[in-house]
Amino acid sequence: KVSQQEATLEHSYGQLGTFFSRTTAPTPVQAPQWIAFNHKLAEALALPATLRGTDTSLHLFSGNLDASDWVHSPLAKAIEPRALAYAGHQFGHFVPQLGDGRALLLTEVVVPGNSDQRVDIQLKGSGPTAFSRGGDGRSPIGPVLREYLVSEAMHHLGVPTTRALAAVASGEYVYRDEPLPGAILTRVASSHIRIGTFQYAAAHGGTAQVKKLADYAIQRHFPTLLEEAEGAPRYLAFLQHVMQRQAHLVAEWERVGFVHGVMNTDNTSICGETIDYGPCAFIDSFSKDTVFSSIDRNGRYRFSNQPRIAQWNLARFAETLLPLIDESRMNTHKQEVHGEQTVARLTDIIQQFPAMYKQARAVSIGRKFGVSDPDLLTAEVSERLFTLIDASYAQLEVDALDHTLSFAALTTQGQQPKGDFLDYVQTTTSLSFWHDWHQRWLALLDEAQITNAADVMAQANPRLIPRNHRIQQVIEQVEANGDLSEFWRCHGAWSSPYRYSELGDNADLLLPPQPDEQVART
Ligand code: AMP
Ligand code: MG
Ligand code: MG
Repeated sequence: KVSQQEATLEHSYGQLGTFFSRTTAPTPVQAPQWIAFNHKLAEALALPATLRGTDTSLHLFSGNLDASDWVHSPLAKAIEPRALAYAGHQFGHFVPQLGDGRALLLTEVVVPGNSDQRVDIQLKGSGPTAFSRGGDGRSPIGPVLREYLVSEAMHHLGVPTTRALAAVASGEYVYRDEPLPGAILTRVASSHIRIGTFQYAAAHGGTAQVKKLADYAIQRHFPTLLEEAEGAPRYLAFLQHVMQRQAHLVAEWERVGFVHGVMNTDNTSICGETIDYGPCAFIDSFSKDTVFSSIDRNGRYRFSNQPRIAQWNLARFAETLLPLIDESRMNTHKQEVHGEQTVARLTDIIQQFPAMYKQARAVSIGRKFGVSDPDLLTAEVSERLFTLIDASYAQLEVDALDHTLSFAALTTQGQQPKGDFLDYVQTTTSLSFWHDWHQRWLALLDEAQITNAADVMAQANPRLIPRNHRIQQVIEQVEANGDLSEFWRCHGAWSSPYRYSELGDNADLLLPPQPDEQVART
C-alpha cells in the first residue's frame, strides 16, 4: 500500500497584506449538521484525515471555530479566516467596494506531488464581514444545494469550475421573504482572484498594489510567464492568457448550454473557472437568447451575449493593467495619465477577443458535431461545417427542440440503423430540413475523412445535465422534510453526464420539464 503524503495548509494570499483581505472570524451556528461531504475531492486534494468529513471537521465547515474539539485539533492553527476585498461592475455599473460579504477564505491547500497545485478553501454563508454592507452574511439552504450540485456537475462535464467540498445545515433560520433553513457551503477554487480584485487594487491602491496582485496572480496561475521579460511584455502576455482562459470557459458554457446569469466583473475569475452559481441554469428547449436570472431584466447576460460580455469584462481588466504597461505619470491635477499608444496597444489586444473566441468555439462546438480538432480541417471545409452548424442551431430554436436531447440523439445516430436523430426530430414540422441537413453533415464528415465522430461526440454531448426543474424539486424536498434522497440520486447521475449506456432508475432524469415543471426564472 502506497502511503500518500498529506497536503500542506498555507496562507499566501494573506501575505499580500491587509489591503487585499481582512482577518475575520466566522459567526458560530446553533446546531450544525452534515448535508454533504465530498470525499472524492478531499482525497484528490490529499486533505489531512481530520478534515475529511469527521465530527471535528463539522465544526470547521460550519464556522464553529471555538468548539472545544476543534480548538484542540492541531490543524486549528493552520486556519486563518479572511474576507477578501474586491470591487466590480455589476450589470455595467461600477461598485468600488464589494468584497466577501458572506464568505471567508479559510486556508490554501498545497497538493503534494501535483506540481504545486494550490487551491483556496472558502466558507460561504459564514456570517457578516466588514464587506457585508448590511447583509446578514448567511445563505439559505436552496442556493447551497444548487451550488453543490451544479458546480460538481460542471466539473464532471469537463468545464473549468470551482468545486464543492462540503455543505452543512446551520440549524438556524435565515430571513429573506420568509424564514428559510440556513446552510454553509465550503467551496474549493484555484483562487478567488477576480477581475474585480484588480479593479479594487486600481481604484484604492494604485500602481503598487496592482503590480503586487498581478505578480502574485502570474506566479500562482501562469508561472510560465515568469520566463517573459519583466514589465510590459510580461503583463501583456498575462492579459492574453487571461483572455484565452475566458474564451475557453465561455465556449465550454456554450457547448453544454449553460447560462451563467450574472457575469459581473466580480464574478469573473482570473484563472478562468466558473464562479458564482447564483442565478445560473442550463438551457432546456433551445433559444439563443435564454435568460433565467430574475434580476437580468434587459438580458445583458443572455446565453448568446456571454462572449461579448466576457470581452467587455476583459476590457475592464485591461484598464487596470494600464499603469503596469505604461509607467504612469501624474498630471498637474495629480491624475494618472497614460500614453495614447499604450491605450491603443491594449485596445488592439482586447479586439483580438472575437477571433480568440471563434477559435475556442471551433474546438468546443466542433466536438459536438464530431470534429476533435478544427485545425485538421481545411479552411474551406471548416467554413462549410460552421455554416452547417449555425443553421442547425437556428433550426433547433425554430423547432424549440431540447438542446441536450437533440445532441444526444445526434451522437447516437450512427449506432442505430434508422438513426436516433431523425427519429428525434420526427415530431417537428421541419423533417425535410433535418433530412437534408443530416445528409450534408454526414457527407462533410466523410469528405474530411473523420472516422471517430461518434466517439468524439459521446464525450462532448452530455446526456445528463442538472436541469433547473430537477434542482428546484431537490430543494423543495430538502426544505419540506430534510429528505436528501433526490439530492444524492441527482448528484450520482450528474457525476456521469456522458453515460450513454442504460440509465435504469435514472432514465427519468433525461426528461425536459413538463410545462407545469418549468422554472423560467432563478
Ligand atoms: P453576488 O451577487 O453573489 O456576486 O454577491 C455580490 C456581493 O454581495 C458580494 O460582495 C457578496 O459578498 C455580497 N453578498 C451577497 N449575499 C450576501 C449576504 N447574505 N450578506 C452579505 N453580503 C452578501
Ligand atoms: Mg459573486
Ligand atoms: Mg452569488
